[in-house]
Amino acid sequence: MTMPRQIQDLSRLCIHTITTKPWSIEEAIDRYAEAGVKGITVWRDTLEGRDVSEIGDRVRSNGLEIVSLCRGGFFPSSDSQERSKALDDNREAITEAQALGAPLIVLVCGADPHQPLSESRKQIRDGIESVLPEAEAAGVKLAIEPLHPMYADTRSAVNTLQQANDMCVQIDSPWVGVALDVYHLWWDPNLESETKRCGELGKLFAFHVCDWKSPTEDMLLDRGLMGEGCIPIREIRGWVESTGFSGYSEVEIFSNRYWEIDQDHFLKQIIEAYKRNV
Ligand code: ZN
Repeated sequence: MTMPRQIQDLSRLCIHTITTKPWSIEEAIDRYAEAGVKGITVWRDTLEGRDVSEIGDRVRSNGLEIVSLCRGGFFPSSDSQERSKALDDNREAITEAQALGAPLIVLVCGADPHQPLSESRKQIRDGIESVLPEAEAAGVKLAIEPLHPMYADTRSAVNTLQQANDMCVQIDSPWVGVALDVYHLWWDPNLESETKRCGELGKLFAFHVCDWKSPTEDMLLDRGLMGEGCIPIREIRGWVESTGFSGYSEVEIFSNRYWEIDQDHFLKQIIEAYKRNV
């Protein structure tokens, strides 16, 4: 006999605006609030042409909490001009986060296939350290998000939680930690022990959820709803919360399939999947 699964309330549910990509930021704020969602992670593309601080006020007046701004990063390049452009872009993200009232920026750290991963990792660390004074002055934390190794060519040279933890230890700043995304890390045999280590270091800043569909039809844009794939999300959430983490579970789904359907219906599906499978 199987035990009925515990049903989660919505008090720790956050949604990334990219998940409901067809909606404007205004629509996302209104619909999430109406549905009882408590947190929102804002993707920068939604802020284009907006007064960022007004958007922040609108979020808060609807009773939502801004969990983070996505995204900064993409530090490495074999071209030094590109590296310097990336630093400017990260400084802009810090300014936006401060105006929005977002306490955290998620970093998709980047990689350049024309140079060794080790060089990209060094440039990531240098890049983070370069913008750290601005982040600290703005009161904005930075979270290194390790990405699945299928993205090691162009999206991130940081591919395991161990690498992210090690980089946090090297940088050694209270403003730099980790965003743990189950999509990227579920396969890692060291995930439980490195999650514990991340917590002990005080570096567990954010927790992202979705599911790994089998088969996955697109490497980037075919993420599943929680419960639709093979990730043991509840077990991983258990590891995360046993470190003392009491933050949000952030639903971050890139999916051509879901972006094509009615987004009000999709939001209902997200909430149902969250209650049963996170
Ligand atoms: Zn993520």
